[in-house]
Amino acid sequence: MTLANGRHTLAIPGPSVMPDRVLQAMHRAAPNIYTGELIDIAASIVPDLKAVAQTRHHVAMYIGNGHAAWEAALVNVLNVGDAVLVPATGNFSHGWAGMAERIGAVPQIIDFGKRSALDPALVAEALDGDKAHRIKAVLCVQTDTATSAKSDVAALRKAMDATGHPALLMVDCIACLGCDEMRMDDWGVDVMVAGCQKGLMTPPGMAFVFFNDKAAARRKTLERVSSYWDWEPRANPAQFYQYWCGTAPTHHLYGLREALDMIVHEEGLEAVWQRHGVLARAVWAALDAWSAQGPIEMNIPDAKVRSNAVTSVRIGAPTGTQLRDWLTEQAGVTLGIGLGMADPDDPAWHGFFRIGHMGHLNPHMLLGTLGSIEAGLNALQIPHGAGALEAAAKACAAG
Ligand SMILES: *Cc1c(COP(=O)(O)O)cnc(C)c1O
Repeated sequence: MTLANGRHTLAIPGPSVMPDRVLQAMHRAAPNIYTGELIDIAASIVPDLKAVAQTRHHVAMYIGNGHAAWEAALVNVLNVGDAVLVPATGNFSHGWAGMAERIGAVPQIIDFGKRSALDPALVAEALDGDKAHRIKAVLCVQTDTATSAKSDVAALRKAMDATGHPALLMVDCIACLGCDEMRMDDWGVDVMVAGCQKGLMTPPGMAFVFFNDKAAARRKTLERVSSYWDWEPRANPAQFYQYWCGTAPTHHLYGLREALDMIVHEEGLEAVWQRHGVLARAVWAALDAWSAQGPIEMNIPDAKVRSNAVTSVRIGAPTGTQLRDWLTEQAGVTLGIGLGMADPDDPAWHGFFRIGHMGHLNPHMLLGTLGSIEAGLNALQIPHGAGALEAAAKACAAG
């Protein structure tokens, strides 16, 4: 016997829940790629993506996942041997740094550990020490999806400006674009990367690199950029195929068009951010209650630097895996695993779970996930404090 029959929910930090409208928009025969609707849809997506990023500058679109966006951004601004400064706040910061190294750049990592945001003052100190301006870019992950730490991008820019150092500010918003506030131009972000499968509610497969004129000028100084990854023709296509350097992601365009209608034209970006804020507070209220007793502990103690898109939780090994398995097998909801969080006594991810609360989500769905976790804690006799669901419901009611 299993209780899990019914609609399965993926409550992980990406891919996120896809709205039925998005899926239905994609359910169609192969469209004409020479003339007509698809060409108009691609052109209409560009300004709406810029609206979500809060930029008036440029966007290049790629068929790819978040890693593709990482590589695309790096190869358009770095030569072999260039240094990059990486204020690391978790697994994804280290991943981006590793990718920079593989293309011949030299990452200089400031490790902020696994439980806090970056400190702009220490980034500024490192830039101050680089009198020769070997560092060409600072790679910041706004929300590190592994730790769920959210860094203050505007404060980082201010600290960088105060040093007078010319390094580009490059920000990974893959986890949280459309969830946590991001104002690319106002905050002085030079390059920003995102994917379609998290806050943008579309099946994995499209990646975006936003860049301003300073970054575009840097691109022009490079010795070479591979023709596939070059952002220049993608951002300024003379022909339709140049958006993608080949065949368009036809069905993704229909899906993304629908998702952007929902975010930009129906709900509105500010309201989307606010909804994510309320739902995140509901998650934290439940976790505060559970943590009063037993092994549960939010990974980021300081609520000010928690993301509205994802929450990482410590529960101890092997309890984390047991709870996640119970939820998948008995409650029809799958939580995220821990990533790069391993302590010496937990070689894998058995002591962690993550709740993705990004994208197409309302109190009904979220309270279902939290209620299912409560059921799992009881079924597995994992000690926990009382009142989590009431606290979460109150947070939703408070708005
Ligand atoms: C998901 C994610 C990535 C990687 O995206 P993939 O689609 O898995 O390649 C990179 N950075 C952050 C912050 C992410 O959340």
